[in-house]
Amino acid sequence: MRCRCGTHVPAGGEVIEITGLPKSLEDVFGDIAFCSPKCVRAFCLESLETLDSIDTPHARGIVSDLHELTMEVATTLVSILGG
Ligand SMILES: [Zn+2]
Repeated sequence: MRCRCGTHVPAGGEVIEITGLPKSLEDVFGDIAFCSPKCVRAFCLESLETLDSIDTPHARGIVSDLHELTMEVATTLVSILGG
């Protein structure tokens, strides 16, 4: 498994899997693995930018779900980093 940042995660290594995704986001995330919450957040923000520029009703639905997820991830990050 390789994280989006290029970090190689060995089989059985620690990866962050996003569970409980709404249907709209399953396609966006697919089988991507993340090595840290930071990478999840970066991916969310990148996807938000991409989807924002598409501006269709379908994309707008995904954006609102993704925005919510990004906020959740940001909160998780803060609780990890802020200890
Ligand atoms: Zn990473």
